[in-house]
Amino acid sequence: MRNVLKKRFLYLLVALISITALLPCIALFSIRSSALESATNYLITPGKYNIINQDTLKTIDPDDPAVNGSIVEQVTLTGNNEQVWQFIHVSGDYYKIKNMANNRWLTSPVSGAEYERVTLETSNIPSRQKWKITQLSNGKYRLQAINREGTNLVLAVNSSLFNINVDGIDITQRDYTDAEERGEWRIANATLWNADDSAYYNGAVVNAAYWDKKPISVLALRIASSQIQNPAYFPPNSAWAERAVWGNIIGMTFTNGISGNEDIQIYGGDYNSVCYKSGLTLNINLLGTTVNNYSGSTNVYHNYNDTGTKNIRKISDSTCYIIFKPTGPNYDADIAKFSIIHEIGHAMGYTGHSPNTTAGALMRADPTTLPEAVFTPTAEEASFFKKIYDLYSSEG
Ligand SMILES: [Zn+2]
Repeated sequence: MRNVLKKRFLYLLVALISITALLPCIALFSIRSSALESATNYLITPGKYNIINQDTLKTIDPDDPAVNGSIVEQVTLTGNNEQVWQFIHVSGDYYKIKNMANNRWLTSPVSGAEYERVTLETSNIPSRQKWKITQLSNGKYRLQAINREGTNLVLAVNSSLFNINVDGIDITQRDYTDAEERGEWRIANATLWNADDSAYYNGAVVNAAYWDKKPISVLALRIASSQIQNPAYFPPNSAWAERAVWGNIIGMTFTNGISGNEDIQIYGGDYNSVCYKSGLTLNINLLGTTVNNYSGSTNVYHNYNDTGTKNIRKISDSTCYIIFKPTGPNYDADIAKFSIIHEIGHAMGYTGHSPNTTAGALMRADPTTLPEAVFTPTAEEASFFKKIYDLYSSEG
């Protein structure tokens, strides 16, 4: 019988990440960074960003994305496309700013009265849709509409309200005084990361990884001969549906491997078999582990807001080990499948674990509420993968 109780015997799944080629990567980062800096003259490089208020740390999005003329408001940053804005360079430090969920333009109000609300408009209105961006001494930005030049009115969270630290507060034009953070903004690169980033943030540097090859060759699940008595859990040459869980998200295709030299190799066995095969001394409670090796050829290092950085690395090869317990009372085919999907997630570049501990998060660390035969990534997990591979595409 399946029940919730038995799932409590599940334990942490971890990824072991190789540190091979770390020092060469650091050296390459220095070269690449200076090359990027010399390549641009923009205050804000044209691209997609979250606009995050310095006072409330909330981001701008449409009040009603379906409505032309909608006001905009501040909300908690989630990575939703409604919160992503395309900055289009016009001239000098002037930009047009377009919402990526509905392609409408961030538009200054007609009225010059303080606290008039900013809207999103379908029509092209040059006199109200150019924004002059100024970087302040604290590194943050001030945004002023072209029709407010000569005044102190800037883009700001409506501060006529008592408490502005809640979602849904309108974005207005407001008289700016120095060091007033509600009129200051972070412009954070939205093509890379979202608020869920905190889950992958671990001190100063967080690693994420991707494959620079398409397709990826995968060696089907190989089972230690001593474990073959449980083919229902690990049928030979299985794990094809499992890998597709991630491949479908990022459009990555796979080829079937047979040689033993494949990009990703997946092995299954009991604890002793996996320790022997991997050469690792593993915690006996693990359900699986993945060893990623990284290519030393490219290492991309990006700022994330101003709270940290990410280290984006190319994976050269990965090996997933699935530890199963053929005689245990608390182990079944669904748990095995979950473990395979989870470890392939690590192999595909998901470093660390999902913050989402509810049932359904495939990359959560402690699956004590494992769903039965429902294996769909959360939106956050899917977004994380897409961002990693979008970055790869943009880097070429
Ligand atoms: Zn894990």
